Amino acid sequence: MPKTEGIPAPKCGFVAILGAPNVGKSTLLNRLVGLKVSIVSPKVQTTRTRVLGICIRGTTQLVFIDTPGIFRPRRRLDRAMVAIAWVSAREADHIILIVDVKRGFDDNTETITRKLAEESRRADLILNKIDLVEKTELLAISAKLNECGLFNDTFMISAESGEGVADLMKHLTESLPQGPWMFPENQVSDMPARLLAAEVTREQIYLQLHKEVPYATAVETETWESLKNGSTRIRQVVYVQRNSQKAIVLGKDGSRIKSIGVEARKELETLFDCKIHLFLFVKVRENWGENPKNYHDWGLDFKA
Ligand code: GDP
Ligand code: MG
Repeated sequence: MPKTEGIPAPKCGFVAILGAPNVGKSTLLNRLVGLKVSIVSPKVQTTRTRVLGICIRGTTQLVFIDTPGIFRPRRRLDRAMVAIAWVSAREADHIILIVDVKRGFDDNTETITRKLAEESRRADLILNKIDLVEKTELLAISAKLNECGLFNDTFMISAESGEGVADLMKHLTESLPQGPWMFPENQVSDMPARLLAAEVTREQIYLQLHKEVPYATAVETETWESLKNGSTRIRQVVYVQRNSQKAIVLGKDGSRIKSIGVEARKELETLFDCKIHLFLFVKVRENWGENPKNYHDWGLDFKA
């Protein structure tokens, strides 16, 4: 875009959202973008890949990168998740580190600050979930967290209620560099519709099932058909690792998978703004976490 007299030059940049699992990174991304582009649940490690959320303020295009939390990895999938979070941070023009005020500076957050310091990167500190603590406690928490000397600015927000988010957005908009927009004006995410649809079903699995089952589950959209009457028919497979997990996902007389399907369909109809016919099938595939193709589909590095 050429700079024209009187019209400010366009600005554009990547903002990486880092933090320990469950601090509210995906909730904040959805709030910043004003649309649900990343799934959210009360469980750790809900986000498995890098999710972009894009929005425009004035002449600035802000590209947010939601990341899986940074934690000590065990499985191959965990390693790939943590690796993509670091790649995202390196690519970004600006980094925000989210801390859950209730939990404060835990080991995972410490790992992140140490690594940022090693790479001479600075960040803004975002204290999230301020709705859960007394206002009088916040200053002390903020002072303690700022002792590491890594942060430029500190913001106190509730990603859930939206409190403080407008100030944060204004600050981020001002801090991004001049440059042409990288995405079309109306694009809000880079996630293909099939993957987003699979994520919506996975979110329901995280919300409705417990213990190890959500972590043993992967969802794949097998077919996606736009019908003549304007509705869409989606067929998905829910992969689990054992027969016992399959029984749990199905539930008594298929009641659980039915309720997962009903809730996912409602969410999909809102997201895609059309009538959806969703068909879910559950299959046992012990090794889905060791299949390179899955990592490719999710945008993760199999060998991380
Ligand atoms: P992530 O793992 O960092 O992406 O965290 P999520 O966005 O998935 O959120 C984890 C949990 O924290 C979910 O149950 C959210 O509803 C909850 N949460 C996020 N932001 C807030 C907040 O500002 N206040 C409260 N009370 N809960 C929040
Ligand atoms: Mg998340």
